[in-house]
Amino acid sequence: MLQQRTLKTLTRAVGVGLHSGQRVELTLRPAQPDTGIVFRRVDLPVPVDIPVSAQAVTDTRMASTISRGGAKVHTVEHLMSACAGLGLDNLYVDITAEEVPILDGSSASFVFLLQSAGIELQQAPRRFIRVLRPVEVREGEGENLKWARLAPYHGYKLAFEIDFDHRVVDSTGQRFEFDLSTGSYARDIARARTFGFTKDLEMMRASGLALGGGLDNAVVMDDYRVLNADGLRYDDEFVKHKILDAMGDLYLVGKPLLAAYSAFRSGHAMNNKLLRALLAQPDAFEVVSFDDEKQAPAGFARPARAW
Ligand SMILES: [Zn+2]
Repeated sequence: MLQQRTLKTLTRAVGVGLHSGQRVELTLRPAQPDTGIVFRRVDLPVPVDIPVSAQAVTDTRMASTISRGGAKVHTVEHLMSACAGLGLDNLYVDITAEEVPILDGSSASFVFLLQSAGIELQQAPRRFIRVLRPVEVREGEGENLKWARLAPYHGYKLAFEIDFDHRVVDSTGQRFEFDLSTGSYARDIARARTFGFTKDLEMMRASGLALGGGLDNAVVMDDYRVLNADGLRYDDEFVKHKILDAMGDLYLVGKPLLAAYSAFRSGHAMNNKLLRALLAQPDAFEVVSFDDEKQAPAGFARPARAW
C-alpha cells in the first residue's frame, strides 16, 4: 500500500511575514492519518483551526490566504509547496500571527525543516485526486491572455510559461517543466525565490504590503538588473518560482493530484479558480489510492529525496 505521511517529530521556525512584516512563530507537528494539513491560529483567544481546501482560499492578491470565520492565514503557498514536494499528507501548522514567515523567500527552509524532523509513514492509504479529463480556465485576450489547465497524466508534472517584458527575466528561461517522477523538488524547485521589481515594491509599501520584503527574502530588480549581490540561484529562477507557487496553490485542494498542469502567466487567483473548476465537475476526477505501490506513478512510492 502507498501510505500517508506525516512528520516524525515537531519542528519550529521563527521569521517575519512578507507583507505584514510581523514576527511570527511556526510549529509544525505530526497529525493522525486523514487529518490533512491544518493551520491553527494559536495566538487568538480561542485557537481556530483552518483545514486547507480550495474553498478555504478567500484572498489571492499577492499571496494565497486561507480563512475560517474571521481567522486568516496569509501566504501559505511556499509551505504548502514544500509539503507537496515532499509528499506530506498530515500536518498541524501552529502559527502565532496571520502570516506564514517568508524566511528566505523560497521553500528551501521549509524543506529543510520538514526533512530534519523526518517523515513518518502511516497506516492509511495515500489518496490522490486523479484528473480524468482536461479542465481549463482562461482570462483576457492578446497581451492580457492567461490560462491554466489540468489534464490526465499518470504522475504529476507542471509546465509553466511566464512572459515578462523585462531585460533580466527575458534573458533567462521563461518556460520550465518539472516532473515529480524524474526531477527532484528539493534540488530543482525549492530554492527558487519570490521576485519583484523596485518600483512595485515602493507602491506595495505605500499600501502597507511587502513590509517584511527585501534583498534577503526576494530577488529584487530595478529596470536593468538584479540588485541581490549574489545574483540568481538558478538561471531560470523566475519561472521555477512560479512552479513552486503553483505546487503550493494546487496542494490547497487537500490531496496530491495525478495530473499534468500547464499554465501561461497564471498566478494565485487563477490557480485557485482552476481547482474550483475541477471540483465543480465531479466527472472530471476521481479519488484513488494504490494497494500495490508498483501501480503508483514512478517517484511516488519512494520517500522524498534529499538534496
Ligand atoms: Zn511565491
